[in-house]
Amino acid sequence: MRPFDLLQPATVDEAVALLAQHGEDARLLGGGAMLTILLRQRLVAPRYLINVADIPGLNAISSDHNTLRLGAASTLRAIERSDTIRARCPVLAEALRSVGNIRVRNVATIGGHLAHADVHLDLPPVLCALGASVVVLGRHGDRHFSLDELFVGYYETCLAPTEMIAAVDVPTPPPGLQGVYLKYCSLSPNDWPTVGVAAFLRADGERIAEARIVVGSVSPRPLRLTEAEDLLRGERLNSGAVAEVARRYGRAADPLPDIRGSEDYKRRVTEVYVRRAVEAAATRAGLA
Ligand SMILES: Cc1cc2nc3c(=O)[nH]c(=O)nc-3n(C[C@H](O)[C@H](O)[C@H](O)COP(=O)(O)OP(=O)(O)OC[C@H]3O[C@@H](n4cnc5c(N)ncnc54)[C@H](O)[C@@H]3O)c2cc1C
Repeated sequence: MRPFDLLQPATVDEAVALLAQHGEDARLLGGGAMLTILLRQRLVAPRYLINVADIPGLNAISSDHNTLRLGAASTLRAIERSDTIRARCPVLAEALRSVGNIRVRNVATIGGHLAHADVHLDLPPVLCALGASVVVLGRHGDRHFSLDELFVGYYETCLAPTEMIAAVDVPTPPPGLQGVYLKYCSLSPNDWPTVGVAAFLRADGERIAEARIVVGSVSPRPLRLTEAEDLLRGERLNSGAVAEVARRYGRAADPLPDIRGSEDYKRRVTEVYVRRAVEAAATRAGLA
């Protein structure tokens, strides 16, 4: 590891000022779970680390009628255990339980999780399906990005080097929207996902009023096909339509071959898991 100075801002404003001052020479430090690996492997070698994990208040989890706000320094474990999240967004709490292991979730922060932008993250599919956005602070003030805008590609976000994620806003799911997150690991069950699928359905009587399906790990950005979702809208649940939706996701997947499987294998798993996730969401929504 190359030497660096550890800077400890006491407020978000101080952190933003340090970013403005050191820009390209600095990296933000959240839980450090991934950053320390990157430092040790010398994939990054910043002169300064700006620790945002200990800024008072940046780990707050709050809510109003419409929105759940997760401070960027909230640990994944704190979000998973939050009564507010469990009550108002149980799928997020469920998905969090599948992230790595408790040691990782105890240190990893939601800001660091999203900024890392590894395609194999568990939460982006769920948060994209829920319509989450990030509050970003920099020297030019605050900006808001949907997660669709935030993720640009492999390990790449739209953030400038002088910007930080301050919070993640998750709209409270509308009444009746029921969902699941299904994670498939081809190696150990604690591994990063080979494929992760978030599926949400809302029923209107016996018909599907709304479908949201987002797949992670199999393309440079979370994969959402609105034209495939539209095949379900207004219809009763039927296995033919669900199978067609699943096929379209399998075809659209563009995974990288690695130790977790070949491209073809991952496309097939995508198809199977989209079908299973939609069926599970349908059960929760009272459609099956
Ligand atoms: C052993 C292990 C297993 C894991 N398994 C899984 C898994 O199964 N599923 C899964 O989804 N994830 C997994 N993860 C990743 C984990 O969920 C987090 O994404 C990861 O630890 C990053 O969060 P962090 O707070 O530690 O960020 P850090 O390591 O501190 O930082 C990561 C990146 O984000 C930047 N950053 C940090 N905070 C901010 C901020 N507020 N604004 C802007 N940029 C910021 C840093 O500069 C750095 O570039 C695993 C991690 C480890 C180490």
